Amino acid sequence: MLTNLMEKVVDDLTEKALINYDDICKCPICVADIKAITLNKIPPQYVTRTKGVLFTRVNNLTSQFETDIIKEIGLSIEIVSKNPQHD
Ligand SMILES: [Zn+2]
Repeated sequence: MLTNLMEKVVDDLTEKALINYDDICKCPICVADIKAITLNKIPPQYVTRTKGVLFTRVNNLTSQFETDIIKEIGLSIEIVSKNPQHD
């Protein structure tokens, strides 16, 4: 089974990033949009889901890489919060 490692990373980092925003919509539609926009900007990294590997790889991310993704998430949050896909 193949998993895009970035989905897990973006999931986690988006949840963390959203804590810092008080005045934006955090409904499932907007959160999914934020994650989709971010994932479309960063290259996927597919791994086979063997026991423990996913967890280990996620924890081995360099802080620079994490910082870059958090920056992209911030841009996605701005895009979605200014133009939510619902009323
Ligand atoms: Zn929303």
